[in-house]
Amino acid sequence: MYKIISCLLMLSLGACAQSPNKSTLNKSTMSEIKNKFYSTTNKEKLVLADSVWKQVLSPEVYQIAREKGTERPFSSAFETSKEVGTFHCAACGNPLFKSTAKFESGCGWPSFFEPITKSSIIYIPDNSHGMVRTEVECGKCKAHLGHVFEDGPPPTGLRYCINGIVLSLEK
Ligand SMILES: [Zn+2]
Repeated sequence: MYKIISCLLMLSLGACAQSPNKSTLNKSTMSEIKNKFYSTTNKEKLVLADSVWKQVLSPEVYQIAREKGTERPFSSAFETSKEVGTFHCAACGNPLFKSTAKFESGCGWPSFFEPITKSSIIYIPDNSHGMVRTEVECGKCKAHLGHVFEDGPPPTGLRYCINGIVLSLEK
């Protein structure tokens, strides 16, 4: 009898000891998915006011996605990573590039030779900073991703030079 009681006691203690862990886990998961607009399946165009984006994106993602910033070269772990999966827009979840289309260009930013589909990306002429370039934006939420250049490898000859901060790798 004593054994059973001590067993029950252990169980209840165990349950007690587990509950704080559980709530911490929930908390961290909650903060990671505070962006309620992020969806890897919803294909509808996403148009939000900058004030709303500011609330749901981290300052780093916001600065690049919405203010067309550029991350420091060689600062993204994605630049040389060989991880297999699909790279999504970190702002809205739109699938953008497959890891099989990734190559090491040495330019300092994650580089791809083709997007998942033609409509994953929007192309915009960019003549800022005295250069003639083509800006690429997310086809779903128009987040600034980077630029595309015509010095990439076969089969496309294109180099999509993308800020790693606005990519989210789903394995
Ligand atoms: Zn997007």
